[in-house]
Amino acid sequence: KLYNQVQDLRGSIRVYCRVKPLTKSQSDQRSTVDHIGENGEIMIMNPQKEGKDGRKIFSFNKIFGPNISQSEVYVDTQPLIRSVMDGYNVCIFAYGQTGSGKTYTMSGPDITAEETLGVNYRSLNDLFDISQNRSDTTAYDVKVQMIEIYNEQVRDLLMADGANKRLEIRNNSHVNGLNIPDANLVPVKCTKDVLDLMKLGHRNRAVGATALNERSSRSHSVLTVHVQGKEIISGSTLRGCLHLVDLAGSERVDKSEAAGERLTEAKHINKSLSALGDVIAALAQKSSHVPYRNSKLTQVLQDALGGQAKTLMFVHVNPEADSFGETISTLKFAERVA
Ligand code: ADP
Ligand code: MG
Repeated sequence: KLYNQVQDLRGSIRVYCRVKPLTKSQSDQRSTVDHIGENGEIMIMNPQKEGKDGRKIFSFNKIFGPNISQSEVYVDTQPLIRSVMDGYNVCIFAYGQTGSGKTYTMSGPDITAEETLGVNYRSLNDLFDISQNRSDTTAYDVKVQMIEIYNEQVRDLLMADGANKRLEIRNNSHVNGLNIPDANLVPVKCTKDVLDLMKLGHRNRAVGATALNERSSRSHSVLTVHVQGKEIISGSTLRGCLHLVDLAGSERVDKSEAAGERLTEAKHINKSLSALGDVIAALAQKSSHVPYRNSKLTQVLQDALGGQAKTLMFVHVNPEADSFGETISTLKFAERVA
């Protein structure tokens, strides 16, 4: 029994690596991803250094090569979604430098094209399917929140009027199991409701001085799905939540070049991504102290990181030669939490 529990805990943090394809205009260059093995190994080649010295191997639970489709990626995510319906808390992260495919994995390249939709939509679709299939025994209630963390401030992305309300995190005074009780909490009944909310969230993310692309690469967006199930006969209830997190770009910013607002953003991103790495690494090592308090991101996700909760991190690799340095630092981050 104890052995099984240990196995369960070990299985609670998984890391998948996804490699995006080179673009058409890059088709003459050689990918820095030299080889993808069958057991989750990925070999990266330094474009400046031919031969054995320029090659480095990393290994993860799974590697998705450049031609793997959205639905194939989702197949390996699906078991986690089922556990949300069984009352577990789950976090799914997209990590990587700007342009490496985080938003592609989570939202999809175009939220109006159903076949290319990402993990967010597919997860919710499944939640509704499961709820339907279990409707004889359990009555499920699904509600959604969507927030953005920018410069260590939490902002609601589901305000109909795009109002820029700052939100507080309450880790200790749970209202209905919510740690951001003031963020708009929207009941959803079907995938169309969810698509409408995703569109609203995207629009609200664009509000602000910087254009959507820039802003979205410098903030974390968190789509949270709260599920409550009530067993019809026994009346007992269960609660699970799913956080779908599109992280800010992990690229290092050259301090000698950045100034002003850009430097402030870079410091905040750096701080929160390291805080996230520290939390997951502490959990992976079963450390007695888990430093949740070091960033807004880890505070928001506290209840869904550690304990019985399950974590999946997608790390994204842009295989172009110019991104070699960032690719190595992305994979080192991932190796630390794996
Ligand atoms: P990020 O969110 O990390 O900044 P994006 O998801 O916006 O990156 O991806 C950058 C570009 O690469 C987009 O044009 C996107 O459509 C494309 N892209 C990313 N991943 C893939 C993929 N797996 N297959 C095809 N195109 C991709
Ligand atoms: Mg993005």
